[in-house]
Amino acid sequence: KSWTAEDEAIIATNTDATECKRCAVELGYWKDDYISYFVRHVDRKAPEINRGYYARVRAMEIFIHQFLERCGTKCQIINLGCGFDTLYWRLKDTTQAVGNFIELDFPAVTSKKCHIIKRNKQLLQKIANEDGEVMIREGDLHSDGYHLLGCDLRCLAEVRRKLAAAGAGPHAPALVLAECVLVYLRPDAADALLRHLAAAFPRCALLVYEQCNLGDKFGEVMVRNLSARGCVVAGARLAGSPAAQAERLAALGFDAARAWDMEAVWRSFPEEDRARVEALEMLDERELLLQLNSHYALCVATRGDIFADMDLNA
Ligand code: SAM
Repeated sequence: KSWTAEDEAIIATNTDATECKRCAVELGYWKDDYISYFVRHVDRKAPEINRGYYARVRAMEIFIHQFLERCGTKCQIINLGCGFDTLYWRLKDTTQAVGNFIELDFPAVTSKKCHIIKRNKQLLQKIANEDGEVMIREGDLHSDGYHLLGCDLRCLAEVRRKLAAAGAGPHAPALVLAECVLVYLRPDAADALLRHLAAAFPRCALLVYEQCNLGDKFGEVMVRNLSARGCVVAGARLAGSPAAQAERLAALGFDAARAWDMEAVWRSFPEEDRARVEALEMLDERELLLQLNSHYALCVATRGDIFADMDLNA
């Protein structure tokens, strides 16, 4: 299969995300011992960007831990559009390493990730089977409990086939992550994917982090910037408020869904946490951060009683 210029631009967003994460980690926003394997040198980003990434990563983490608290580690995590995310290795260093961790992205991204993993012992040793081996099959990496799969999320048949090959199924609770990914799918493709996942996993939680409120002036500029990079922005879907996004998710087959803009998420963090982060860098443009925060949202959708009480302040 050949990729369009549009796909290339979407693939490049991973480099951007990884660079921003590494920059924030170097400045002390949070700890990640693995991100530096995935991107070499990075230029310093604006304080507003670093702060935004902190809230994004911390918010995802809060809900990942809530999920694991409720169902334990005999579960599966499915990371959609995983990019160079390091969550698998970070969890491995805790008592919360999960039974099966499955990552999906375009083959152009997963093959690079695979290459980086194989080249770095610190990454590889946390993946390898007991015999120290990982298996590469049809370009995908498989091992006991970790699978890295190249596929196009817009092609549901391929997603289903890959998930089955990685041992995903309804037998265990599933946490599905979509961090800045669904924005790159047309609304009908994103809906079909989520509807399938909701139906396939009777006990699951879905975390979606992406843009919202794109209907206003600031939102228009964000849409223009994304389009200038060749990304299709699924306008109608993301124009809505966080509440509208949650409603949309609930309509796709989840029992319940809730969402917050990132300003609400930031304000929910413990005081000492915010104080620590605020002391790291002076903000040049407080207004810009407020605008950014009100144009990103975290949505949590769940199926199954044990996840029904997952909440920002649970
Ligand atoms: N989730 C990671 C994170 O937050 O650090 C990466 C985010 S990056 C902004 C978006 C990722 O989604 C890229 O790695 C891109 O290749 C992937 N992606 C977008 N559309 C996709 C598709 N149709 N199929 C597979 N992956 C896709």
